[in-house]
Formats: sequence, C-alpha cells, structure tokens
Amino acid sequence: MGQDTTKHQGRRRQLVALLKEKGITHSAVLEAIGAIPRHLFMDSSFEDHAYQDKAFPIGADQTISQPYTVAFQSEQLRVSPGTKVLEIGTGSGYQTAVLCHMGAVVYSIERQHELFRTSLKRLPALGFKPKKLIFGDGYKGFPEKAPFERIIVTAGAPHIPEALLGQLVVGGKMVIPVGEKNQKMTVITRTSPTDFEQLVLGDFRFVPLLGDKN
Ligand code: SAM
Repeated sequence: MGQDTTKHQGRRRQLVALLKEKGITHSAVLEAIGAIPRHLFMDSSFEDHAYQDKAFPIGADQTISQPYTVAFQSEQLRVSPGTKVLEIGTGSGYQTAVLCHMGAVVYSIERQHELFRTSLKRLPALGFKPKKLIFGDGYKGFPEKAPFERIIVTAGAPHIPEALLGQLVVGGKMVIPVGEKNQKMTVITRTSPTDFEQLVLGDFRFVPLLGDKN
C-alpha cells in the first residue's frame, strides 16, 4: 500500500476546489473527497494523475469514475450517518469509501471477481469498513438484506432494473445513470409501495452495467 503525502493532500485540496467550482456543495461529500487518498485506489502508474477530474482504467475493462461523477452521485444520494445503502459496481472501491466516510452503512456488489478481490483487501487496509462486499450480479440487487434506504448504480444501465426498485424502502432513493451509450443521471424516489417519482438530471458517460450474457 502506497503513501499519502502532503503532495497528495495538496492535490486533493485543488480537486475539492474544482468540484466546488463545478457546483458540488454538499459538505460531507467535499470532506470525503478531500480526505480519501484516491491515488491508492488505482495503479501506481497513474499516481501523478490521480487528482485530475478524470476516469482511469482499473483492470477488467473497467474504470474508476471521474471525481465529479462520484461527487454528483454522492450529493444526489443525500446520505447521512447510518443510512443503509446498496451500491452496484464496487469497482476500485473509491465510491464505497466516499459513502463509508459519510457514515453510510454500505453493501456493495461487484461482478468482476478480480476487482471484488482487490476491494475486499484494499478497503479495510485503508481503514474503510463497508458492511458487506458481495461478488455477484447487481441487476438482482441484494434481496438478503433488502430493503435499502438508498441505491447507487455506478455503471450505465440500459433500463432501470425492476429488482432494484423492489428493494427500495418507501421514501428511499436510487441514483442511476440510465441509457445505452450516454446516460441521463436519474434519481428515483419510492413514494408508496406501488409508486415511484423520477427526476432526470444531466448527461454522463459510464461503462455499461454487465448483464447475464457479458
Ligand atoms: N464506483 C466505482 C469506482 O469508483 O471505482 C465505479 C466503477 S465502474 C464505473 C462500474 C463497475 O460496475 C465496474 O467495476 C463493473 O465491473 C461493475 N459492474 C458492471 N456490471 C455489474 C453488475 N451487473 N453487477 C455488479 N457490478 C457490475
């Protein structure tokens, strides 16, 4: 595990300033991004670029999301300490760490075994304690521990998975990028056992959510 130096901390302060300029205001989100050593969630060859507002490869044809995207989704999720969250797409574990730093109780599912194994070691080594990391298919959610107060999907979903809607508490929210090539960030609130409200926000670009066949 690498070091977190004053150089990295300085770069993080600049990143936080940039995210504020781009419109992120939620203090717990900005504090998390200011505190978490993003460079330790990616290959050391990217270390000098880790605090740029960019996505980077993490292996298995996947990426660590751009910090603005992580901040935007975290802000929309509106978690507070103790909020029970299901994350689909652990990836590098960085978004998981942001949610843990905000005090959320995080269940996170990853479909690529290599990434799952790395996060399983990395998160506790860096002091983050998600409630459970799961190797599996996030399209199905995690019925064993449902319902969830929040669900965050960190890969592009061609459609909104029915199973995930069913695993939200009434009053709960899901933040999910919906679309094939480009996605619209969509916030879904469950307003009753049978009703959902949908708010469509800006355009984003994610790697696709992998289904059963790929
Ligand atoms: N939050 C992650 C991060 O900051 O590193 C984002 C990772 S990437 C944009 C999306 C992740 O979703 C990838 O790790 C990918 O393997 C995972 N994924 C794709 N389809 C999935 C599925 N059906 N179930 C669970 N994870 C999935």
